[in-house]
Amino acid sequence: MGKGSSTPIIDELRVEPGAPAELEQRNPASRLGLGEKPDGQARSQELLEVLDDLHNRLWAEARRSVVLVLQGMDASGKDGTVKHCLGGLNPMSVRVAGFKAPNSTELAHDFLWRIHQVLPQRGEIGIFNRSHYEDVLVVRVEELVPKQIWKKRYAAINEFEEHLANEGTTVVKLFLNISEEEQAKRFRERIADRTKNWKFSPDDLAKRTRWDDYMTAYRAMLERTSTDAAPWHIVPADHKWVRDAVVTEVLTQTLEGLDLKWPELAPQLKALVVT
Ligand code: AMP
Ligand code: MG
Repeated sequence: MGKGSSTPIIDELRVEPGAPAELEQRNPASRLGLGEKPDGQARSQELLEVLDDLHNRLWAEARRSVVLVLQGMDASGKDGTVKHCLGGLNPMSVRVAGFKAPNSTELAHDFLWRIHQVLPQRGEIGIFNRSHYEDVLVVRVEELVPKQIWKKRYAAINEFEEHLANEGTTVVKLFLNISEEEQAKRFRERIADRTKNWKFSPDDLAKRTRWDDYMTAYRAMLERTSTDAAPWHIVPADHKWVRDAVVTEVLTQTLEGLDLKWPELAPQLKALVVT
């Protein structure tokens, strides 16, 4: 995202390249001065209309693309973000990809192989529900590959994302920052609510016991892969409406920054008369 198209909220949430992420100082329950829930929701609603128009222009122009990378602990609201912030866009030019533990074919390739295949085409907005960052998060914490392999991935990711930027794909990276307490609350809901049972897995509890290790891995990720080409933003995610307002704002500003124009009719076509 070009800095020229930033807003004070976005500036506050950005992890400056090369600077500490200051994760401990970032309040997951912050309301960012957005007021009460109805205020935040009204703001999201307004921005979603602007976003819809910008998205149509992106598609019409068909020269560039945007990919939104969502990372966060279990129950941080990645699925909800996709639904609330992107659900109203034209499905024709939206491409959603979710990343689970790699299958045997994926494991038989380098970690970026499966990522590259599902990137948005020119004109599309892509959404990654988890991403190549799992390969320096869960993989690091659970020691799924040796350290000498995962430690080289930060640089590989930075190069990959710079390459994408050079080729016309803007990479927008959002860390949905929820507190340990809010996660517990959402897990309890998933157990108590019949319609949410399916979202819960025992593996979520196992991961929760390693919260501090995950935060260490997240901090390293934020500090080592926030770059000028693709900076990280830390989204306060304890309040779903704050999260939605921020994600909508970041996306809208990103597309604003692309200065998208409706393609013009070719001069020779302007003279044509339709009878
Ligand atoms: P969910 O997001 O709840 O559908 O869960 C997906 C699971 O896949 C999470 O536990 C992730 O940590 C896991 N996962 C995603 N990518 C990888 C990866 N590259 N290696 C290992 N596990 C992964
Ligand atoms: Mg899950």
